[in-house]
Amino acid sequence: MATKSYSNINSVYTISPHTFEKRSRTLAEYLSEPRGQIFFDARPWKTERITNEAKALQLLAERTTIPIPQLIRYGQNNDGSMFLEMSRVDGVDLLSVASECRKPGGVRHNNGGECNKCLEIAQANAMHFIKTVLLPELAKLRSNETGLDGFVIPPPWVVESVDTRPHWEVKTSLDEEFVFTHGDLNPGSLIMDPDTLTVKSVVDWEHSGYFPPGFQKWSLDMDAYYALFEDQQAILELIRSIEP
Ligand SMILES: [Zn+2]
Repeated sequence: MATKSYSNINSVYTISPHTFEKRSRTLAEYLSEPRGQIFFDARPWKTERITNEAKALQLLAERTTIPIPQLIRYGQNNDGSMFLEMSRVDGVDLLSVASECRKPGGVRHNNGGECNKCLEIAQANAMHFIKTVLLPELAKLRSNETGLDGFVIPPPWVVESVDTRPHWEVKTSLDEEFVFTHGDLNPGSLIMDPDTLTVKSVVDWEHSGYFPPGFQKWSLDMDAYYALFEDQQAILELIRSIEP
């Protein structure tokens, strides 16, 4: 496979035969598109979030058995953008599993088109993985400081919804009461093996860090995930729990 590049409003992605690179977009790239300045202003911590993800991958590789992309290198380009190069994980995210029948174990469920049976199997496997592997492994990582290495980026359902402050202070506690959280765990951040429909890798750790256990929210259904953004009362309570 040749090297392929694509971008969305937040990042530029480059896939090569063995690697996957994510990098932040520059102001010039934003401005080359309609409403670029608005999108630029609406995306805080463009470079810091890439560094945060790199540090999370390092920590998780050293101290857990969670399947994640292998960190190869990260750093800053001359144009100021931050890049993160990882090993490439072949697979399909949980959002895309249902687009065709994957014939798990050689069993075909339909004659083409979307397959809800495959989605059901993949969701059940993902649920089992989260409860028996991911959450127990994350629970082993505890700290008496919020965020990661002095930088705090709460989950999207906090910073893109209720509280858009530009900077979050680290909260310190006497006890190791903060637990490592993914921060953005939804069907798009689970890479599934298309043959077995089991979880192959957990990606997108930009919003990860140490937070009170109540921040460990996740959903395998996008509607339910977006509902997290609407629950003002719960979000405000969680915000109070990380105020220094
Ligand atoms: Zn199927």
